This record gives sequence, C-alpha cells and structure tokens, in this order.
Amino acid sequence: MALTIGVDIGGTKIASGVVTEDGRVLDRALRPTPADSPELVADAIADAVAELARRHAVEAVGLGAAGFVDETRSVVRFAPNLAWREEPLRKKVAELVGLPVVVENDANATAWGEYRFGAGRGESHVVCVALGTGIGGGVVLGGELYRGRWGMGGELGHMQVVPEGLPCGCGNHGCWEQYASGNALVRRARVNAAADPSSAVRLLELAGSPDAIVGQHVTDAARDGDAAALAAFEFLAGWLAQGLADLAAVLDPGCFIIGGGVSGAADLFLDQVRADYAARLTGRGHRPLAGIRAAELGPAAGMVGAADLARVR
Ligand SMILES: [Zn+2]
Repeated sequence: MALTIGVDIGGTKIASGVVTEDGRVLDRALRPTPADSPELVADAIADAVAELARRHAVEAVGLGAAGFVDETRSVVRFAPNLAWREEPLRKKVAELVGLPVVVENDANATAWGEYRFGAGRGESHVVCVALGTGIGGGVVLGGELYRGRWGMGGELGHMQVVPEGLPCGCGNHGCWEQYASGNALVRRARVNAAADPSSAVRLLELAGSPDAIVGQHVTDAARDGDAAALAAFEFLAGWLAQGLADLAAVLDPGCFIIGGGVSGAADLFLDQVRADYAARLTGRGHRPLAGIRAAELGPAAGMVGAADLARVR
C-alpha cells in the first residue's frame, strides 16, 4: 500500500504523519514552528519528514500551509502568522527531503481530508467551513478541489456580509468571520454578559468577568442553560446559516461540513443552522436541502488531506 506523509504547518506547531491510502494515520512526528524564519520552518519540516521516512517507505509529501498558496501549489505568497513572503516552499522542502512535494492551503487540505475520509464521504460537491479564530474555507466541486485562477479561491471567511461592519484582520470591514467564527462567538458572549450580567450568571461564574470569557466558558455555560451564552450561539447560528445560504446560491453543494474548534459544540447550534438555512435559501421549497454536518476527522483532517493530495499530485 502506497504511503505518503502529510504535514500541517500552523503558527505554533508542525504536525506530520504517515498516512495510508484509506486515510489512516500510522505514525506521527511533531515539531514547534519557528515562526520568524522561513529557513528554520523548512528545516523543521524536513527534520520531521526525515524522522518518519526512516521508519516507513513513503512516496511523496503533502504540505498544508496556513497561507495563500499559488496555483502551481509551489509558492506561499503570503502567510498572516508566519514570515513567508513569496516563499518557494515546495522547492526548498523537496531539495531537503529528496521526495516529491506538493503545497496546499491548510483549509483546502482540511476540506479534502473531510471530503475523502470524513463527513463528506460519498458526496461530490462539498463546502467545508472551519470555525476558529477566523473562518477557513475549502470547496470541492465535482470531486475536485476548487482553487480558483491564482490559487486564492475558497477564502469564505472574507465574504463581506455587513457593509461597513466590524473591522477584520484582512483590512476590510464586515467579513463573515467577524460574525460566525469562534472568535465572533466569544466576542458576542462578552458583549451579552457586559450588557446584562443578570442573564449571564453561569457564564460570569465560570469566567470571572466579561473580558475573561473564552470559548470553553461559552460552551459550558450554554450547556448549563445560561441565557447570555445561548444567545451568543443563536447569533453565531443565524450568521452561519445566512453565509451558507449565500454560498448555496452560488455553489449548490450537496453538503456543508462545519469544522474547527467550535464544531465540538455542534449539538448546541447545528439544528438552528439547519432551520435558519432552510428559511433563507433562495428557491426554498423547490430544491433539495444540502446536508449540514459536523466534521469527523478533527485536527487530523489537514494532515490526512495533505497526504492524500500528495498521492494524487
Ligand atoms: Zn476579512
């Protein structure tokens, strides 16, 4: 069975693993990310790959990188959380490891992993939406990853949903990720708790003060019935549903997969997302409803997807 290595390169750690053709992770190697130096990042990737290649006969390496990757899957043009600027990552790592290498945007790799081996199995048209600090997006259409003309497609979190809305790290205002990400959930919970502490008794008991609220507090308080925490999830669900309905108007996917850290609390908001989505979808009542499912592979999705993309390079 052909084995490949998938590497998920994040802002703090480089997670690599040996992956089988059916998406199982056989072995892993972890390194911290030397975020300030592109040279040291390439060295750390090569070091982890060499460690795994000593233990397994591998054919190729797929890198999932948190940045804008060009259409040839070779160069990281820009990365918000790493020092990459026009970084020839494919060439650099291939020279160091002596194996074929492909580079993919990390959200695309995650979407591919879920499409092949997770919640998107058996579907042909899949939109993956990862809710974390922002919103990561990946789109599979007709069984192929959709990258766009220059590799910049699928940045779903930066659709402008509110003209002149909240400022976004990308420099624009009103981006979807300011309303429907993990960070947006926490911000909303803080606002709710500060505006009406009597509605946030459990939330404030857990966090201490509105400013100290983090995601886990919101989830735990919502499970305990805290009104402010539940209202924050309702806010998230409404904006998430609106964005999915807009995406369906353009892409008409068979299913949406909701991943990222917030998806661990999917039971608290996915039913509302499904209901709001059905109520807002254009052509509703005259078209099938796309499935809206929680991701299945968890944090390994990016690694598994990158490894599989290396196989089909
Ligand atoms: Zn933005």
